[in-house]
Amino acid sequence: MSWDFETDAAFQRELDWIDEFVREEIEPLDFIIGHPNDFSDPNRAKLLPPLQAEVKKRKLWACHLGPDLGGQGYGQVKLALMNEILGRAKCAPVIFGCQAPDSGNAEILAHYGTWEQKERYLKPLLNNEICSCYSMTEPQGGADPKVFTCTAELVGDDWVINGEKWFSSNARYASFLIVMAVTDMEGPAYQRMSMFIVPSDTPGVEIIRNTAVGYEMEGAHAYMRYTNVRVPRDHLLGEVGQGFIVSQTRLGGGRIHHAMRTVGKVRRAFDMTCERALSRETQGEVLAQKQMVQQMIAGSWIDIEQFRLLVLRTAWKIDKYKNYKEVRADISAVKAAMPRVYHDVYARALQIHGSLGLSTEMPFAAGVLDSFHMGLADGPTEVHKVTVAKQVLGRYQGTNEMFPDYHLIKRREKAIAKYANRLEAEVRAE
Ligand SMILES: Cc1cc2nc3c(=O)[nH]c(=O)nc-3n(C[C@H](O)[C@H](O)[C@H](O)COP(=O)(O)OP(=O)(O)OC[C@H]3O[C@@H](n4cnc5c(N)ncnc54)[C@H](O)[C@@H]3O)c2cc1C
Repeated sequence: MSWDFETDAAFQRELDWIDEFVREEIEPLDFIIGHPNDFSDPNRAKLLPPLQAEVKKRKLWACHLGPDLGGQGYGQVKLALMNEILGRAKCAPVIFGCQAPDSGNAEILAHYGTWEQKERYLKPLLNNEICSCYSMTEPQGGADPKVFTCTAELVGDDWVINGEKWFSSNARYASFLIVMAVTDMEGPAYQRMSMFIVPSDTPGVEIIRNTAVGYEMEGAHAYMRYTNVRVPRDHLLGEVGQGFIVSQTRLGGGRIHHAMRTVGKVRRAFDMTCERALSRETQGEVLAQKQMVQQMIAGSWIDIEQFRLLVLRTAWKIDKYKNYKEVRADISAVKAAMPRVYHDVYARALQIHGSLGLSTEMPFAAGVLDSFHMGLADGPTEVHKVTVAKQVLGRYQGTNEMFPDYHLIKRREKAIAKYANRLEAEVRAE
């Protein structure tokens, strides 16, 4: 038997260290540092590198990467247990060298980059000396990449990129962008696109504006224009027409890591909810004694535990099969479940905290809105539900029979036929 819900003692010690480090050293930083990728912020420059050095000393830096790239090559289960702690604080992923979108972009570069590209882009990215951006979504559509029109054309020894991109997160802080562009407009839908490295200071790269989401003061999701942007021929990642395949290298891992961190976020809101329910009195008793409040607390606990188990089992499957394709349904299921759990746990936390909960003095209203981020980025919930349904239905077969085999009358007839001899023998014996 190998089913086990316990963490081995040695790794638990690491998790305990991470937990204390995040609570004591990192959570307070969220009140001091604006954006964890803003290298021009003097507070960031003073406060982050010493903490990153401590993480490196402890050998917990970029654990998703193999030792050849300076990580520990942790499997997804270990990463899940670690990430659910890091999810508590905005700055934690960057202090542990596993922040999105850099972690996914690093995976692409490690997999498809040339030696020179690894030296120029990957090394400083892994050391968090620079950060990067993933530029794929276009203003006319994100969920359906078949409508993308940003093109890359080979002219002499350069690729020339023209078009617009939308919601390219972190572009304003990034030293380079990984851009998906159409290289064959007439080709089959999923072989039209290719992936390119574009240094941010290349002439023609323009941020039209930075868009903010509902709870942010300052936007970091760029509306981009690429006008005759020239990059050398070798800045193509993978083969021409392989853009989708390359993008899967980052998205499989990226989606599950978001989910792991979401477990941490919702647990944090849940802890606050329980404390409040046990503290706030109304009509002579604490909120925790009201049955409808108990219903909300039970609902959140059940949602979190179910979601966490699905995330951990998916992580375990990724480790087992070492192939994201085999685990597509599970990853999409996690991705589709995530925004609802995030939304509901934060909404209940908000409700139980009353007016204080709705105010900007508490993190709940921002959390409710951020749950929509999780339901959109890396593909909308509906698209992931379609994937789950298609994958699951693929394991079944239909029938041409008018009444299916599981029709109760048919099953009863079959059962009688199966035991007819024995039943008759018993009747005769009597
Ligand atoms: C906070 C945030 C950060 C992001 N960061 C990045 C980034 O760094 N780089 C990047 O390239 N993109 C990024 N995105 C964009 C993200 O990938 C897109 O928002 C997503 O792919 C959906 O595209 P869209 O917003 O254009 O919605 P649309 O494609 O217009 O879809 C709108 C809605 O239509 C419905 N819908 C769509 N398709 C289907 C379907 N097949 N069946 C049923 N309903 C459907 C869904 O409800 C969907 O939300 C980010 C988005 C957010 C919110």
